[in-house]
Amino acid sequence: MLSSQIFQQLQQIVGKKHASRTLAERDLHSRDQSPHPPALPDAVVWPASTQEVRAIARLAHEEGIPLVGWGAGTSIEGNPIPVRGGIVVDFRRMDRILAIHAQDFQVTVQPGVLYKDMNRVLARHGLFFAPDPGANASIGGMIANNAAGTRTVKYGATRDNVLALEVVLADGRVVRTGSRAVKQSAGYDLTHLFTGSEGTLGLITQATLKLAPIPEHFSAATAAFPTVQDAADAVFGIMGSGLNPAALELLDQATIRLLKEEAGFAIPTAPNLFLEFHGASQAALEEELKLAEAICRECHCMEFQAGLGRKAHKQLWETRHRTFEIMLRRHPGQRYLVTDVAVPISRYPELVAYAAEAMESLELPGAMVGHAGDGNLHTVVFFHDSPDAQARVEELNRGLVMKALALEGTCTGEHGVGLGKKKYLAQEYGPEAVALMGELKALLDPKGILNPGKVVE
Ligand SMILES: Cc1cc2nc3c(=O)[nH]c(=O)nc-3n(C[C@H](O)[C@H](O)[C@H](O)COP(=O)(O)OP(=O)(O)OC[C@H]3O[C@@H](n4cnc5c(N)ncnc54)[C@H](O)[C@@H]3O)c2cc1C
Repeated sequence: MLSSQIFQQLQQIVGKKHASRTLAERDLHSRDQSPHPPALPDAVVWPASTQEVRAIARLAHEEGIPLVGWGAGTSIEGNPIPVRGGIVVDFRRMDRILAIHAQDFQVTVQPGVLYKDMNRVLARHGLFFAPDPGANASIGGMIANNAAGTRTVKYGATRDNVLALEVVLADGRVVRTGSRAVKQSAGYDLTHLFTGSEGTLGLITQATLKLAPIPEHFSAATAAFPTVQDAADAVFGIMGSGLNPAALELLDQATIRLLKEEAGFAIPTAPNLFLEFHGASQAALEEELKLAEAICRECHCMEFQAGLGRKAHKQLWETRHRTFEIMLRRHPGQRYLVTDVAVPISRYPELVAYAAEAMESLELPGAMVGHAGDGNLHTVVFFHDSPDAQARVEELNRGLVMKALALEGTCTGEHGVGLGKKKYLAQEYGPEAVALMGELKALLDPKGILNPGKVVE
């Protein structure tokens, strides 16, 4: 427990109103959107500046108190759960857009800004930040988890779109990494060391991001297939053909059924691909769609609907983004697991076949959705709590990770290591690499106060 004296010092740093020890606030910061068990922090603080974060870190370092960054709390692998208590640093008040460098396609922001809010402002300049996780995450949380989304296949994950950072280290030192130049080869790449480190190496207090112009011409399509295997084959065909989709999502029959009930899509209740292309001209888009359709037809596509109007296009992607939330709502009181593995695109059909068979043989009815264009697959299973169901769910998760690793992939494509994937890191990288990660952690955070219990010890 945090002493009253330390709490008073925190109040002095951030102001009385912006530090709390109430059970309600601690409870709100004890869980993310994952099924991992909650853990209460001792206090929550809402700093307003880098200087305040720096002072909080100095105090925590001196006293050896855990310090856990908090964005929007939408993680799904337990990433921000303060498993060892301590102080949660909620970045909600640090939500300013500091500079829009429209001519350079860049923006500099504080970490607490939510990416959808930021994109609304950037739209006035004809620009957007492309990584788009389904939830309205904060930029700090997206950088810390290296979040990705439906558009990663064309624009990259968060990591590919971060140019520079300001980071407060565990002992309160402030470092600046990277620059606004899009080409950088000066020294070690600290920007990308902190990106994806899940708040275990430093607290991000500022970021400069790469933006993309909002495409003048875009077109979406849906393609329905008799089997999920055919759909996965088409994904490989499209990516292998040199086409450059802006989104290529796989949704199995169960997911489509749910989305149709929710949004009334007029598409077959069958495995579908949702595709989007961005282009410089309508003619170029039509060419791309024609080729995509031909590839899908070769893979037994039953129905290809192209050229969706603006309204249908918006509805398609809004509903796709709400898939997980819709699933949760449809299974009240049940436990769930979202798996997250990724493989090279040529191995994707094999991964999909394995996942379908594993869900069936383990008697775990669920759904399969994937950012297929980048080889990323999620299965979502709901179950009533029992030791038997829990064991089958764990077997599904473990089996999928092992299969992804056997296919030269990764145990997590975008959700991060958090609590659930720690046990697989050594298998993925080997003990030497994990030991090196531990040494880096010890160098930057010798007292182990930053988000302890995550990624590596
Ligand atoms: C419905 C739904 C759909 C989702 N879809 C996707 C998806 O498609 N792709 C995807 O990648 N993810 C997805 N996610 C997961 C989640 O949205 C992302 O992981 C997101 O990046 C989390 O951001 P956040 O602001 O909520 O961060 P939080 O959950 O608050 O924190 C995430 C991690 O970042 C650390 N952290 C937060 N702020 C800072 C900071 N300033 N400095 C250092 N560390 C910090 C925390 O300690 C924690 O380890 C989804 C989640 C939901 C609920």
